Amino acid sequence: MKHEDIKSVLESGEVGKEAVVCGWVRTFRDSANVAFLEISDGTSFKKLQVVIDKSALAVDAECTKLGASVRVRGEVVPAYKGDGRELNAKEVTLLGKCPPEYPIQKKRTTLDFLRTIPHLRLRTNTFAAVFRVRSVAAQAIHRYFHERGYYYINAPLITASDCEGAGEMFRVTTRPWNAKAESEEEYYKSDFFGVKAGLSVSGQLEGEVAATALGKIYTFGPSFRAENSNTTRHLAEFWHIEPEVAFAELPDVIEIAEEMLKYLIRAVLEECPEELAFFDSFVEKGLIEKLKHVESSDFAVVEYTDAISLLEKENARFQFPVSWGSDLQSEHERYLTETVFRRPVFVTDYPKEIKSFYMKQNADGKTVAATDLLVPGIGEIIGGSEREADYDKLVSAMRERNMDLDAYRQYLDLRLFGTVPHGGFGLGFERFVMYVTGIENIRDVTLFPRSVKNIK
Ligand code: ATP
Ligand code: MN
Repeated sequence: MKHEDIKSVLESGEVGKEAVVCGWVRTFRDSANVAFLEISDGTSFKKLQVVIDKSALAVDAECTKLGASVRVRGEVVPAYKGDGRELNAKEVTLLGKCPPEYPIQKKRTTLDFLRTIPHLRLRTNTFAAVFRVRSVAAQAIHRYFHERGYYYINAPLITASDCEGAGEMFRVTTRPWNAKAESEEEYYKSDFFGVKAGLSVSGQLEGEVAATALGKIYTFGPSFRAENSNTTRHLAEFWHIEPEVAFAELPDVIEIAEEMLKYLIRAVLEECPEELAFFDSFVEKGLIEKLKHVESSDFAVVEYTDAISLLEKENARFQFPVSWGSDLQSEHERYLTETVFRRPVFVTDYPKEIKSFYMKQNADGKTVAATDLLVPGIGEIIGGSEREADYDKLVSAMRERNMDLDAYRQYLDLRLFGTVPHGGFGLGFERFVMYVTGIENIRDVTLFPRSVKNIK
């Protein structure tokens, strides 16, 4: 269908020329002689105003209904207000009617309600803006790594290893629900892969394989976690950005994470000014100010042990008081980043008991070279570490956890054959989108969110 994007008409439509656009009706105002139709085709935050001279053009009433889809031919004229463009209609054609039951009505509906109609909610300003930002951010991620010589790797989604500690795995099976078996092993022997298989919780282990040959790699794909928690920050299926870098130690990992995050924020600020202005007005007051500040200032770094001392002083305010060895809960993470540091903060060197087997063991024998990046409003957005590069130390960490060494032979080989210091991190893509839009529920930055008892 030959037509122009509304964005290009608004920004560079030549005055006096004819243009054809298509879109959905967002508002209709009628008066004695003229009527105004605002339409949107998703290409820009701004809608295009179509002016209908009623004495010259009769428009089918169906074309003026909220949500109807139309095609408009008209003359490009300067906007009545501002420096944009409008269209003086010559012809308005109905593409699809929209009856009054259309659930997206003009009065601001709640995010809760819109969550019940995931297939239609993108027709609202808020969701269309979220998904434009999400797309811009995804492009910026690829650009960031590509510009710096990282290779883009696709890790398998079906896996037999469970990247221990990262989360509960969904099982992948083709066996019927009532299949009989004498034992677990027996059950999986007759299954598709002949062993227990699941959906990957992280591409990190495969990322290490690639990084210890290609040097710098990243993955950007879905991860699956059978999280049985119903929080505003967890999904069962989320998108995960996982760079992995050879010849890198923990400070390098921190530097990359900070630089990458700032790059992404800058890209969104530059490419989505209208969306951010909207979020700033209606979702999180001061959002743009916050992002500009974060983009231009240094992130804080604090060792876990020091963070615990800071938190212990405030134990009275927490639901779960902390002491050395505690895993940080959301309330502690947010207190650190929102109240103590008032900016993003890397917490480093966690007790080895609360972190994964593959993290590099520090000389103190108690902590590992791990880091989580905490940001205001969300808490953890990135989790990373230097990896244990020493074969014997890795084996002993796995033995302490009663892990099956045979299942990790390939992973151990990386330490046997030319081992190198290396590290990386995982950024939750949805958490990043939440951070830059101010949207507080992860379900509202995901097209069809999957979580416990929810797969609409
Ligand atoms: P959390 O403590 O918040 O549950 P985690 O420590 O289990 O996260 P990691 O294994 O470190 O998460 O994963 C790296 C990143 O992936 C996290 O920092 C977060 O941004 C994102 N992430 C992890 N689990 C989820 C999830 N269930 N839904 C959305 N994003 C997630
Ligand atoms: Mn983590």
